[in-house]
Amino acid sequence: MALNATIAGVFAEPDTLMGVFEEVSKMNVHLNILERAWAAWYLWMQNDTLATGIMSFVMHEVIYFGRSAPWMIIDALPYFRKYKLQNQKVPTLKEQWECASLVLLSHFTVELPQIWLFHPIAAYCGMDYGVPFPSFGKMAFQIAVFFVLEDTWHYWFHRALHYGPLYKNIHKLHHTYSAPFGLAAEYASPIEVMLLAIGTVGSPILWVFLTGDLHLFTMYVWIVCRLFQAIDAHSGYDFPWSLRHILPFWAGADHHDVHHERFIGNYSSSFRWWDYMLDTESGPEAAKRRRDRKIKAMKAQKTQ
Ligand SMILES: [Zn+2]
Ligand SMILES: [Zn+2]
Repeated sequence: MALNATIAGVFAEPDTLMGVFEEVSKMNVHLNILERAWAAWYLWMQNDTLATGIMSFVMHEVIYFGRSAPWMIIDALPYFRKYKLQNQKVPTLKEQWECASLVLLSHFTVELPQIWLFHPIAAYCGMDYGVPFPSFGKMAFQIAVFFVLEDTWHYWFHRALHYGPLYKNIHKLHHTYSAPFGLAAEYASPIEVMLLAIGTVGSPILWVFLTGDLHLFTMYVWIVCRLFQAIDAHSGYDFPWSLRHILPFWAGADHHDVHHERFIGNYSSSFRWWDYMLDTESGPEAAKRRRDRKIKAMKAQKTQ
């Protein structure tokens, strides 16, 4: 379904985006400003695949570097050192610059072509991108489902990437930084980027394929949430107000920082339950629990 069909009214093509926005606004007073801007963008572009492609790429760059910037500032301020998980390892500007360059190169060479494929595939599977947007409740529910699906995909494939040859040839690059920082979230081999992106992009595609009910705007909110999750997990900081202190099953930076420090365990992305259930938790507390369990088992064997 082309977006044009979902907008009430017909107008003689104004040639500027602002002109289209004003036309849309006049004829669709029931839409909010974001919905009007969204409709104007698609109508002005006249090419839905290109419109989605440009919007997706720009949004990804703005959120990725926009969300990483505050972490760079925090790294430069000694006040925050007390919240840093590995406080002896603060990234240098040079390290951050090298990391950002590789990430940017990968965004243009690996991610851009994939972003272009997204619209035709998603539209084929029944994704809606008209206006108005879905309700907040529906979006929140679907995004919660995507978080659970992505976390599961991430756990298994990330765990697989730690298998010897796969680690050496693919995943080692992501482990360049044993004390991660925000920008390092997508510092990885192209194969890894593609493999793990299937969890992020494939979950909503699977959902729309099965239910026929997904809006592109929901997809965007999901991607923003997922980028925040990935960048914050790599930030290297755990604050008393961090989400994991409110939601104990949320992984957060504390969980992933240990993974980078020790190279083993804590494979999931957003939640703690997979590592807990399959006994792959990392860090000294988990190691102590494992040791205690072993001692108990040995004692039980002796008394038999
Ligand atoms: Zn890893
Ligand atoms: Zn990582």
